[in-house]
Amino acid sequence: MELFDSHVHLDDEAFAADLAAVIDRARQAGVIDMVTVGIDVASSRAAVDLAGRFSTVHAAVAVHPHEAGRAGPKAMADLGPLAAHAKVVAVGETGLDYAKDYAPREVQRRVFIEHIWLSRERNLPLIVHCREAHAEVLEILEREQPVGVVMHAFSGSVDVARACVERGYFISLAGPVTFRNARAAAQVAQEVPLGSLLVETDAPVLAPEPFRGRRNEPAYLPHIVQRIADLRGCPPEEIAAATAANARRVYAVN
Ligand SMILES: [Zn+2]
Repeated sequence: MELFDSHVHLDDEAFAADLAAVIDRARQAGVIDMVTVGIDVASSRAAVDLAGRFSTVHAAVAVHPHEAGRAGPKAMADLGPLAAHAKVVAVGETGLDYAKDYAPREVQRRVFIEHIWLSRERNLPLIVHCREAHAEVLEILEREQPVGVVMHAFSGSVDVARACVERGYFISLAGPVTFRNARAAAQVAQEVPLGSLLVETDAPVLAPEPFRGRRNEPAYLPHIVQRIADLRGCPPEEIAAATAANARRVYAVN
């Protein structure tokens, strides 16, 4: 079974002590490729650096909506050349987080839109983080027309998922789909057409069952794939193959 983890944070300090082992365990678990996602300029730089060191690691660069308050003109200017690096496959993660509201909403909106412009300029897909802001995120995406969209760690309803699929966006499912109380996520996992589905760990956070609450790592991706397969009543190999092919397509990875 060959898997593609569409979203991880390998530069996180949680992996500082054993990153090579983490990537090795991922490979042994069948996770052949992964995209390590930046959350600010330093982390985006680290993502590009990691992608240069490990052949199976690809990078995404952005300032996370949590950090949007610190994303001044200098930060956006710094992201431009980073996004031009050969192993950068997406701009992200960016979006709106109205659950935490760490940055003022109007700042989040401005920074989100600037990231969409960057993604268009570089012809890269956009990795979108969205918490309790789906209506506005969809409206902004509709208006600004990024080249491709990955709705990361999708937390919306089935209706929102359908609207995303209609527009050609990818729905990336993470650990919460394995949680017993995650009914919306389970419904989304059953409803989204296989051609629009991605899987991710979002490691080191959002560990799937049976590791919930512990440090997450890409090697746990098969647990998410198995759960989706159980929900859809199909073999996990089918989910693995389809989501890996989708990831290769949206991120333009061979
Ligand atoms: Zn993330």
